[in-house]
Amino acid sequence: MNDSALLVPVTGSLYALQVPIPYPMKTVTVLIDVPRGGPVTLVDTALNTPEARSVLEDGLSALGLHWSDIDRVIITHHHPDHYGLAGLIEERSGAGIHMLDVEIGRGERYWHLWEEWLPGHLKHMRDHGLPGASLEEMGDEHRKGRDRVLPASRVQPLREGQQVALAGLEWEVLWLPGHADGHLGLWHEEERMLIAGDAILPRISPNVGLYAYTRPDPLGDYLQTLGKLEALNPARAVVGHHGPLMEGVQARARELRAHHHERLDFIKAEADQAPRSAYDLSLAMFARELNVSGRRFALAETLAHAEHLRLLGQLYRTWDEAREVWIYHA
Ligand SMILES: [Zn+2]
Ligand SMILES: [Zn+2]
Repeated sequence: MNDSALLVPVTGSLYALQVPIPYPMKTVTVLIDVPRGGPVTLVDTALNTPEARSVLEDGLSALGLHWSDIDRVIITHHHPDHYGLAGLIEERSGAGIHMLDVEIGRGERYWHLWEEWLPGHLKHMRDHGLPGASLEEMGDEHRKGRDRVLPASRVQPLREGQQVALAGLEWEVLWLPGHADGHLGLWHEEERMLIAGDAILPRISPNVGLYAYTRPDPLGDYLQTLGKLEALNPARAVVGHHGPLMEGVQARARELRAHHHERLDFIKAEADQAPRSAYDLSLAMFARELNVSGRRFALAETLAHAEHLRLLGQLYRTWDEAREVWIYHA
């Protein structure tokens, strides 16, 4: 195989690599920047699997690089497919690992504290109606997922508005919360180019879920992020999945906003018809057959919508003593 075929040129010394992940999206985008005089930078890292490590190695070697040449890693958000190899790269290269300050305190900490946090996660899901069998599987799944993540020992904070150099250009650090609390984007004004991670995706709606340790209104956060992206109106974006490059960000942001507003209307109407738990609402909103992790995502996403409506005063909730579950009413 011609290794250089792996790399998609983005701008100047910045290349995109599609790294395989064992999820329905199939690949995640990892960016490699090799400017003359350094520093060699990666944006995102993929999951710790043998396939991902080997594709990353091939991508690096097509640019004449080894693991040890990496100076810096910037991570868009803490999800395993973006963060998983952070610890391995840190260990092999001594590279500095960077994330948005907001993400370090919550998302990144999760990988260090997941075992202590697990009971809280399970209680959160149980209080919103997730059945017992799914809760057990959820625990097992978290354990399995954790095995594919090698956390960094030290992560350095980036702040919103700060400038970072990539491909010899200055990029502004953006805070794009919703899909993750501290989701980072990089914006280059003159080229109108955005490094978006999962903040916007061309084919799927980025999961926006309320979990035990997320900010209280991830959907509200995400609707603001969509407004921000719409106003920026990037000419091109590098995206985490189904990319690496995407055009029409402004139109896609409008489409996603309309999609979430439809779901908000749906949930309000359903809760009005028959008050019920977020889990029961999620069965109506995601009526198709889903596996356990799909059901958990569906619950977290439904909950993000229900809680957004509650914070707006359009729904309220009561605690059902008998069933020990929160019930949403219109
Ligand atoms: Zn993600
Ligand atoms: Zn992702």
